[in-house]
Amino acid sequence: MSKRVRVRFAPSPTGPLHIGGVRTALYNYLFAKKNGGDFILRIEDTDQNRYVEGAEEYIIEALNWLEIPYDEGPGKEGDCGPYRQSERKSIYKDYAEKLIDSGNAYYAFDTPDELAQLREEYESKGETFIYNWHNRDRLNNSLNMDADILAAKLENGDPYIIRFKSPANEVLELEDMIRGNIKVDTSTLDDKVLFKSDGMPTYHLANIVDDRTMHITHVIRGEEWLPSLALHVMLYRAFGWEAPQFAHLPLIMKPVGKGKLSKRDGDKMGFPVFPLEWHAPNGEISSGYRESGYLPEAVINMLALLGWNPGTEQELFDLEDLVQAFDINRVHKSGAKFNPEKTDWFQHQYMQKKEDSYLVSALQELLKEKGIEANISLEKVVGLLKERITFTRDLWEQGDFFFEAPASFDEKAQKKAVKEDTSEILQNIIDKIQAQNEWNSTALSDNIKGWVKESKIGFGRVMMPLRLSLVGEMKGPDVFDIIELLGKEESINRIKKFIEQIA
Ligand code: GLU
Repeated sequence: MSKRVRVRFAPSPTGPLHIGGVRTALYNYLFAKKNGGDFILRIEDTDQNRYVEGAEEYIIEALNWLEIPYDEGPGKEGDCGPYRQSERKSIYKDYAEKLIDSGNAYYAFDTPDELAQLREEYESKGETFIYNWHNRDRLNNSLNMDADILAAKLENGDPYIIRFKSPANEVLELEDMIRGNIKVDTSTLDDKVLFKSDGMPTYHLANIVDDRTMHITHVIRGEEWLPSLALHVMLYRAFGWEAPQFAHLPLIMKPVGKGKLSKRDGDKMGFPVFPLEWHAPNGEISSGYRESGYLPEAVINMLALLGWNPGTEQELFDLEDLVQAFDINRVHKSGAKFNPEKTDWFQHQYMQKKEDSYLVSALQELLKEKGIEANISLEKVVGLLKERITFTRDLWEQGDFFFEAPASFDEKAQKKAVKEDTSEILQNIIDKIQAQNEWNSTALSDNIKGWVKESKIGFGRVMMPLRLSLVGEMKGPDVFDIIELLGKEESINRIKKFIEQIA
């Protein structure tokens, strides 16, 4: 029997989760569910200097909002907890020592000053200092020390770090589910720090130990971790463990120009790069998809297709569909260009799928905020506006005139719409509306259009000023639908007011 699939999303709580991180979480979730496996959330908070208050809560809230639930993680204890590295501190040291015992790691006593000096020396020769096979037998570490001296130093509590002993001359063959075979020459690698002098493991050691002890079978993460792959694979080998399979996801790129999508691109072009609004400890606020009015299903759909394609023309996928369709082999190698217009397209599509009752509540909320008591059917307003809206706030932008008579009229439109005989035409319309018995838009339309045709005035000369008088600008649904909803009295009042205005 093959092993149960277990994947993890392992963010560091150093700030708000970027949508690139959200996509990593999503692909992990999809891969797990597609394979009937588990999706684990692990908080990688070993670097206390970079810890940001509220970031972990933010990550969890974002996953909840997007409805990509984890099976195990903080607050959902499973068999492999705790799921915060800061609560696992005690387990890492033993693993580091195991590597020392097997000759795969060593204690290094070089002080920060000594290392800084070495860096300077190398730089003055136009070289870069790296700590590895080519100089480690000349530096201050346990590889070059008699056992009793080492024992004395340790006994004495001399500060040390533990470094991985990278092999000198080996070509590693690495496998990535997305990128295929990758070759790395180990002689270019430095002896990475595994354990720090403050008694904490580095990301590399903690990450490998946790993936192993949490029985992770597939590591799906961002491309920025590809340079660490060689070390990680060597660590598995050094421990004598079977490595998980790896997949490095493509970067999310700027909508225009080159480079990674950044918060600045979002600020410049007016779209969020974070799932939720973020209030930084310094008071700075960054916008979020949730607070900007996006639906979680639209964000999910957009992110799913940012770097993956189903191999068909289908674009709309709910989470269930995505689980069915997802195939990690169809994730692209090259960067995925972020497209804010496409995000809005998805948002529009999902808004159309919303129940009318959802939109009615949203409209009620908007009206309440503005202190407006509606005396017309909100169901009907929603029915007329639905296909025009992308965000619930558009209900107001597109339909404010249903609740408030225009206070002014669009000047440009007025210039175009108003001719010498406009008052006379509108007075005729008032008479028609006044005399109308059957009150619905079809009957109104038949009546008024019939008259326009008969009198050969031309539709533009009637419809433009009529709409302007009712709406205040050239927007909105069918004019007769508007008249029906506004009612006889209100419609006539508005037209009268417009006639006065142009007089
Ligand atoms: N803690 C790393 C991050 O913040 C996790 C990298 C990995 O998934 O291995 O992205």
